[in-house]
Amino acid sequence: MLYLDNSATTKILPEVKDAMLPYLMEEFGNPSSKYYSIAENAKSAVKEARHSLASLLGCKDSELIFTSGSTESNNMIIKGVADYYSEHGNHIITTKVEHPSVLETCRYLETKGFDVTYLNVDSFGRIDVEELKGSIKDTTILISIIWGNNELGSLNDIEMISTLCEEQNIFLHSDATQVIGKAEINLSDYPGITFLSCSSHKFHGPKGIGATFIKQDQYEILTQITPLLHGGGQEQGIRSGTLAVHNIVGMGKAAELAHKHIKANSQKLTILENRLVQILQEKFGNHLHFNNDSKDKIPGVISVQFKGINNELLVKKLAPLIAASTGSACSSSKPSHVLAAIGLSIDEVRSTIRFSISSLVEIEDLEIFKRL
Ligand code: PMP
Repeated sequence: MLYLDNSATTKILPEVKDAMLPYLMEEFGNPSSKYYSIAENAKSAVKEARHSLASLLGCKDSELIFTSGSTESNNMIIKGVADYYSEHGNHIITTKVEHPSVLETCRYLETKGFDVTYLNVDSFGRIDVEELKGSIKDTTILISIIWGNNELGSLNDIEMISTLCEEQNIFLHSDATQVIGKAEINLSDYPGITFLSCSSHKFHGPKGIGATFIKQDQYEILTQITPLLHGGGQEQGIRSGTLAVHNIVGMGKAAELAHKHIKANSQKLTILENRLVQILQEKFGNHLHFNNDSKDKIPGVISVQFKGINNELLVKKLAPLIAASTGSACSSSKPSHVLAAIGLSIDEVRSTIRFSISSLVEIEDLEIFKRL
């Protein structure tokens, strides 16, 4: 079976598994304990993993807070900013094509009296930076914009957005879950980004672990937010709870490998994507319509309509040979809000399939489509 649902999750690399195993077995110490070797070993392993992730993202080690994944990171930032800065304002700006962990959090905050603007997007799912600028109010406390879309792969112009937020002195959060490991990101190039979410299982690390970047000021003090989890004070008091050392080590190893191979992997993904598009066009010709843009996108993600065919039935039929999806795994029971926001009709949404490739796929593997 050819696995082409890598936006949903990815396979753990063997090196990642090998790095994790000791921390599930003999190295079981709690990194908050002291003096004896398995505690100190766990502490060093977390330190090393944090450094690998910081190198991948281009930030300081102390600007990373480990979480259980991007759902938690998104919740933590949006609720944490809303709560901490509610006396400064109650307006949040986001987009109509965010992941549910951003959208539902914003909807929840609306029930608590917050005012949320959901920006429109163009036909590929990108926001218009002028529209963003025009929607800023005196009461705006946070702007949360997805970096790369999980259904369409389109990248927002985070550079312009970051510059705007810096000029306007407003916090910018970006959900970069789908971009990390597939395209190069160096946070030091984006001084306007205050918060960023990422998740290990999207770049060949384990599930249940992610991180939030929280920017420090010149005195190395983290931007203040209300913690989501209060408790023993781990992760600088922002995210209490005993650290999941084995998962953190796995995420660190996956980050190290992603960093090392980022250029080669991203080029390979583009080659694989082009080949897949070519094979699909040769095989299905006029019966296809691509929803995604062909440029400024996450390499390896395509969203394609098989005209007149029900996507659920097609994904089911493909399943023995090819694993794909009708869109986001997190909202698969409902028609995609992302595809609706780019203006597709319900019939077009219901005939769309997402293929998401990983760098573990080889070009010959794609020949399987010829057997359909
Ligand atoms: N944001 C985006 C853009 C995603 O694609 C996902 C995962 N589908 C998430 C957030 C949630 O990530 P996690 O699975 O780590 O909670």
